[in-house]
Amino acid sequence: MTDHFDIAVVGAGMAGASLAAELGAHARVLLLEAEDRPGYHTTGRSAAFWDECYGGPDVVPLTVASGPYLREHGFLSARGGLYIGRDSDAAELDAFFERFAPAGIELRRLRRTEVAALIPGLRPEWTGGVSEPGSADIDVAGLHQHYLALAKRADVTLTVRARLVSAEREGGRWRLATERGEEFSAGVLANAAGAWADGVAALAGARPLGIAPMLRTVVQLRTDPAPPATLPLTLDIRGQFYFKPESGRLWLSPHDETPCEACDAAPEELAVAEAIDRFGRVVDWRIEAVERRWAGLRSFAPDRLPVYGFDPAREGLFWFAGQGGYGIQTAPAAARLAAQTILGMPRDAMTERLDAVLYAPDRFTA
Ligand SMILES: Cc1cc2nc3c(=O)[nH]c(=O)nc-3n(C[C@H](O)[C@H](O)[C@H](O)COP(=O)(O)OP(=O)(O)OC[C@H]3O[C@@H](n4cnc5c(N)ncnc54)[C@H](O)[C@@H]3O)c2cc1C
Repeated sequence: MTDHFDIAVVGAGMAGASLAAELGAHARVLLLEAEDRPGYHTTGRSAAFWDECYGGPDVVPLTVASGPYLREHGFLSARGGLYIGRDSDAAELDAFFERFAPAGIELRRLRRTEVAALIPGLRPEWTGGVSEPGSADIDVAGLHQHYLALAKRADVTLTVRARLVSAEREGGRWRLATERGEEFSAGVLANAAGAWADGVAALAGARPLGIAPMLRTVVQLRTDPAPPATLPLTLDIRGQFYFKPESGRLWLSPHDETPCEACDAAPEELAVAEAIDRFGRVVDWRIEAVERRWAGLRSFAPDRLPVYGFDPAREGLFWFAGQGGYGIQTAPAAARLAAQTILGMPRDAMTERLDAVLYAPDRFTA
């Protein structure tokens, strides 16, 4: 027997869960997840920060628009961000400041003494920085559960161990089948499959957009000294590392971006070694243990902006993909905007300032 829905969302990571929650009050929604539980892939592996500058100027509006919702629901906690550089990076730090300050983000250009006051044991060659006081930690699991709970309350049907394997368009509807043989029909197919987004589009007979998964590694270190709880999220202005404190330990990434097939991502030894080597060039701390290491796939469209919108050539296929390294911090505004687009609803206070054209998939049509 086939169950009928208005909209089928593929993937129950942050993207699919938030979109299903936003759609649920207005339509009959199916949420299909290939794994045993939602959030197993990239969503469960993030570094959990909300940083207004992260992702570049065209991602800023999505992050900023998401801020009030995240704050109101208690998902942000104060951390502060700090981009650091050496003497040779002074022009880069200035350019960063000039690039983002006009967007209304609170930034301060810092001298060596101010940077050293924030990072104990800082090596002498790190001579400047830009601080971003509004940068925050984000409760990723809490936000994901929040959206799953909202979806449940709105009667969204979540089906796990339900990998979509076929999608045929017939008579203005999708006929969908999962690996285990369940069948569904839906008017709209929303592709929130993260690293698998191009594959899901191909299943549905659409042209893949070139959404490329990239491996990113994080290690959890026990250090002496332990990172102070007040340590800001510290990012290299040249994009070679970032680190932040987490419950008395340090989370450190070498900012790697290795092209990869969609898969259950695992950390590479080389990336772990690079992270530790780069960290040793920043501070004089002793590394006592590598307690954990993990990796996840950040998926990017060719222009590194997310893709939200109906496919220009395949009727009824909606893209909600390419969330890159900012799919958590942009989730509220992105999901609201996408739901309004699918349902043909007017913008609201959260989305009224967003330029949907920037994220529309037809930007890739020659
Ligand atoms: C190390 C790391 C650090 C990060 N740090 C941050 C950060 O600090 N802040 C931030 O905002 N972002 C961060 N990100 C990025 C963020 O995690 C992602 O943008 C976000 O999780 C993407 O969510 P998603 O739902 O698109 O993908 P996923 O969570 O991967 O979800 C996609 C889901 O689709 C399912 N799926 C795939 N194919 C099918 C199919 N055929 N049928 C059914 N289901 C299918 C998969 O099983 C998966 O569960 C980080 C990412 C990494 C890897």
